[in-house]
Amino acid sequence: MKANKFHTNARVRLKCIKFHINIKEFHTNSIKFHTNLAKTQNVQKTIAQYHPICYDFINTSREGGVLIQINRKIPESYYNLIRLKHRLPISHKKYNDIVDEINITKAGYHGETRTDYFIQEVEFPQDVHIIPDFHIKLHNNRYIQIDTLIITKSYILIVEVKNIKGTIIFKDYPRQIVRVLNEKTRSFKCPVVQLERNLDGIEKWLTNNNWNLPIYTALVFASETTIVENAPTDQKIFFAKDFPLYIQKLNNLNPALSQKQFQQLTKELIQTNNNFIEMPLCRKYNIDTNELKSGVLCKSCGDKLFRINQRKWTCQSCGQEDTNPIANNLEDFFVLMKNEITMVECLRLLELESRFTLNYTFQKMQLIKTGKGKSTIYRKNPSKHTSSTKPSSSSTETP
Ligand SMILES: [Zn+2]
Repeated sequence: MKANKFHTNARVRLKCIKFHINIKEFHTNSIKFHTNLAKTQNVQKTIAQYHPICYDFINTSREGGVLIQINRKIPESYYNLIRLKHRLPISHKKYNDIVDEINITKAGYHGETRTDYFIQEVEFPQDVHIIPDFHIKLHNNRYIQIDTLIITKSYILIVEVKNIKGTIIFKDYPRQIVRVLNEKTRSFKCPVVQLERNLDGIEKWLTNNNWNLPIYTALVFASETTIVENAPTDQKIFFAKDFPLYIQKLNNLNPALSQKQFQQLTKELIQTNNNFIEMPLCRKYNIDTNELKSGVLCKSCGDKLFRINQRKWTCQSCGQEDTNPIANNLEDFFVLMKNEITMVECLRLLELESRFTLNYTFQKMQLIKTGKGKSTIYRKNPSKHTSSTKPSSSSTETP
């Protein structure tokens, strides 16, 4: 790979225009552009920070194409499931299902990043945009989620990634896949049906927004150790390491959009990409909220934290120390139970006696307050991103 050359202000400006990034955002945040590679990499990190759906660019190849680096984040749903696991007693009848769901989400993410690694082998035309984990709301009752969306002037490619161990058998009527591993069977939703739904969704979106561009789909199995049986022959199905060749073929297609149209289309898609807000997980998994553990819990292991002094909390199970665990624990309430809370409910859930600590945290979280006195209700402000720490889990394994 040739070294990155986007060193000068002018080059960065050009790239900001290309990636629809407002250059003022950098100036107002006192980010200075420098002429050495290390500082340029800082600018790239800043771009990723302000525009998390943008990938970190980019090296220009000798032939004038671009090699890209995909910046994929761990999905929010993974952290939310960890919250649920921490709040569920181990003896709860849904506990193992939730651990399973965490493992599947984690394996899915690893499969996607492995596939990204191979997509990064591909030399793309200059005008390309790749959106990992693309979400779109078609109408009030229909959302679609696409693992990877590749947009060029010639085509749109919808990529569905599966990372499942064992032998996968495609079944018809009704369509599903069955996994056999260690003599145990388990069924999963058919990924081809998912692709067809996503294709239909993107087609509708393009038509509604007056765009006309060929759309292709691909199902990618992240690991070559998966044995795939009875795969439908009318679908493009690949192992991750074979996937780049298919993309390279698509890259030879004639452009259907001008550069201006491409920029407009990517701008519209980026604006549309929106992580939809999941319903509270207790409702989703049909769990009685009274069965959740109360108390201020450790973000690492989910056991109770003990307050040592005014500033410090500690976990006796894993030794984790925390100076501000309340906001993160309050977030559990919104993710798991409901989108509005009262002071009394919070005091009960977190087993706290002092309203003072909670009031301080409510203000810090910039919650929206309605009502007066004991009936005051607090809601999350949708425009404020949570600053609370994400829970972590080191005890999960891929399925
Ligand atoms: Zn702990």
